[in-house]
Amino acid sequence: MSWRATVLTIFPEMLPGPLAHSLAGKALSAGRWQLETVDIRDFARDKHRSVDDAPFGGGPGMIMRADVLDAAITGASGVGETILLSPRGRRLDQQRVRELAAGPGVTLICGRFEGVDERVIEMRGIEELSLGDFVLSGGEPAAIALMDACVRLLPGVVGCPQALAEESFAEGLLEYPHYTRPAVWQGQAVPEVLLSGDHARIRAWRREQAERLTQARRPDLWASLVAARQGKDREVER
Ligand code: SAH
Repeated sequence: MSWRATVLTIFPEMLPGPLAHSLAGKALSAGRWQLETVDIRDFARDKHRSVDDAPFGGGPGMIMRADVLDAAITGASGVGETILLSPRGRRLDQQRVRELAAGPGVTLICGRFEGVDERVIEMRGIEELSLGDFVLSGGEPAAIALMDACVRLLPGVVGCPQALAEESFAEGLLEYPHYTRPAVWQGQAVPEVLLSGDHARIRAWRREQAERLTQARRPDLWASLVAARQGKDREVER
């Protein structure tokens, strides 16, 4: 059985969207993963097919109804973890992506309007994941980003698995800078070491650059890397 993503949305026409193209699209046609889209509206109970209602307690916007969404989740019979894309969620990172890609698949709920009735989130123990500290108009672009990140880790999707081992976050570091032809562009030469053919020196230079970039741009990542190293050193001492 290939990895399966089930997406619950009120805009099923937004999918597969960008996932029909390039790497993820090829993998989809090749059957390395499956995508199933469920229209939440199909589970509405009234003739207007409404999925939302006004918030108790007042305030702006509309809220996705717990009963309709719950019926849609049951009807969808997706596999793996059920996840609500939400700006309140834990920030999605490569570690979580790796875990999700290693499982049978994911069931993704795309919020719309002001959000989702809290009771369905609590009753089902739904995990909330966020793309970052900004607000999208709906969960679909976030679901697409999550699926893209998972699919490229599935076996056989990326032609050269070595590329996955070296990219950003693989070792808790940002990736080193890249250069290609021409060797001199607008008076700027590429770093000499990259033309040296000395693979040990190149590796050391790239490592140094990755560490420098991570320290400068992501002190948070750098701090957890340093803490992890200190933990390892202590283990060795014991
Ligand atoms: N009123 C909410 C925002 C709702 S945005 C709040 O203030 O927290 C509508 C939907 O877009 C959300 O239900 C969620 O599914 C999606 N969304 C918005 N921002 C997101 C983010 N940063 N990551 C993941 N999903 C997001």
